[in-house]
Amino acid sequence: MKIRFRESNLSFKHPFTISKGTKTHQPALVVELEHLGYRGYGEAPSISYYGITVEQMINDLESKRLLLEKFAFTGPDRFWHFVHHLFPLNPFLVCALDIAGWDLHGNMAKKPLYQIWKLDPSKGPLTDYTIGIDSPEQMVAKMKEKPWPIYKIKLGTDNDLEIMRTLRSHTDARFRVDANAAWSLQEALDKIQVLSGLGVEFIEQPLAKDNWQGMRELFEKSPLPLIADESCVAESDVEKCLHHFHGINIKLTKCSGITPALRMIEKARKLELKVMVGCMNESTIGSAAVANLIPLLDYVDMDGPLLLSTDNATGLSYDFGKVSLSGRSGLGISCDRLFESD
Ligand code: MG
Repeated sequence: MKIRFRESNLSFKHPFTISKGTKTHQPALVVELEHLGYRGYGEAPSISYYGITVEQMINDLESKRLLLEKFAFTGPDRFWHFVHHLFPLNPFLVCALDIAGWDLHGNMAKKPLYQIWKLDPSKGPLTDYTIGIDSPEQMVAKMKEKPWPIYKIKLGTDNDLEIMRTLRSHTDARFRVDANAAWSLQEALDKIQVLSGLGVEFIEQPLAKDNWQGMRELFEKSPLPLIADESCVAESDVEKCLHHFHGINIKLTKCSGITPALRMIEKARKLELKVMVGCMNESTIGSAAVANLIPLLDYVDMDGPLLLSTDNATGLSYDFGKVSLSGRSGLGISCDRLFESD
């Protein structure tokens, strides 16, 4: 197996602000696996909150490159276990390799992943479109720039309710709110009471990731469903969310790829938790991995390619929240020119 990789650093259309800070570009690692003439592509963004940089992913990859290239690829499950044990402290890198392994597998089988999983791509939820934190006027302008059926609104400011009342006066679209762990328990109790009257569907990560006691109380009292994001990183977190959240937001990058995400979806279903898959501003490569999973989900948030001004691949399209893939195998996209200049 041959492996190629490089850093991608795509710019956002607008500086992207959440309660943890602002960014203008999204650094990510993109990888290509080549085996028996077939190729597979994967991607993992670097997110400073989780403390993993692209440089660290590249250093780790270089340090085990020979072992990886000697691996006899027979399928994505075995490959995930192999890379998970090679890089136990770098789930982001494992994710990029796992997505590439699934893409390679699908390309070798000449089937798209959703077909391998026996899913109907016409089923499943619409994706939301994220409005980052800004002045209420700017947030209205960003919303009007992109007419959409569901908006995810980033909050965690002193004027959260003013923002939401202003946005509501300009649209009848469904709202989701993501506080990114910014609220105290009392603040959450007060704000959610008001938000429930403003057409908000659910609240994502209201409290700090370790505030399980606060979440227990909020879970009992909240009039809106609560979805775990920062509190639900790895497979072992799913069970902890029971009786503290109504659902979980799985992200391929934090949980280390499609392989563990499939297990997390199954576990959440058994526990009767709602299942969302979210994104970390991945380009079309990482987003296509999510797109294949859509028929398994209650909610999906995969607007990375819409927020970025350029892309690493083609073949993923959006029509007012409905996602489609044009490719007929693997991730269902085309990455033809990604490593052309190497
Ligand atoms: Mg979130």
